[in-house]
Amino acid sequence: MNNSQCPCGGYLSHSDYASCCEPLHKGASQAATPEQLMRSRFSAFARQNAEYLTETLHPSQRNATTLSELQTSFEQARTHWLSLAIMDAPKASPLEGWVEFVAFYSDQEASAANRNVQQLHEKSRFVFEQQRWFYIDGEHLAPVKLGRNDLCWCGSGKKLKKCHS
Ligand SMILES: [Zn+2]
Ligand SMILES: [Zn+2]
Repeated sequence: MNNSQCPCGGYLSHSDYASCCEPLHKGASQAATPEQLMRSRFSAFARQNAEYLTETLHPSQRNATTLSELQTSFEQARTHWLSLAIMDAPKASPLEGWVEFVAFYSDQEASAANRNVQQLHEKSRFVFEQQRWFYIDGEHLAPVKLGRNDLCWCGSGKKLKKCHS
């Protein structure tokens, strides 16, 4: 992934970080919906932005060590976040919403021949407080089975069978 691409679109995507998640990461704008916050948090994981992840976590879920724990996990982990697939993001109520997503990752670079693509499938809950959305908690779900006609995990927009099968 080069630096101008936004991670939330996948490593082969052409979405531009500067016009996608960067304004959120810099505090220049706020996520308008739970899905937008979800995407920006995925990008923050991919870019190892522990500050943003801490700020967008609901205050009830963080403590004095949250930031340093995230920073340590980034130093130790070899997770390469590959792409994000939003499975369901129903219109939120004014104060609460949820997003079901699959985040694809590997302990190898996406281009590595022996990459082993894994997934985090979660239904995340978001709440609106202090005029902004926060991630509060989530429920882990079983991995989804990707069929040959499903969109590829890399974010290319092609079917799996025509891409990384
Ligand atoms: Zn983005
Ligand atoms: Zn692909």
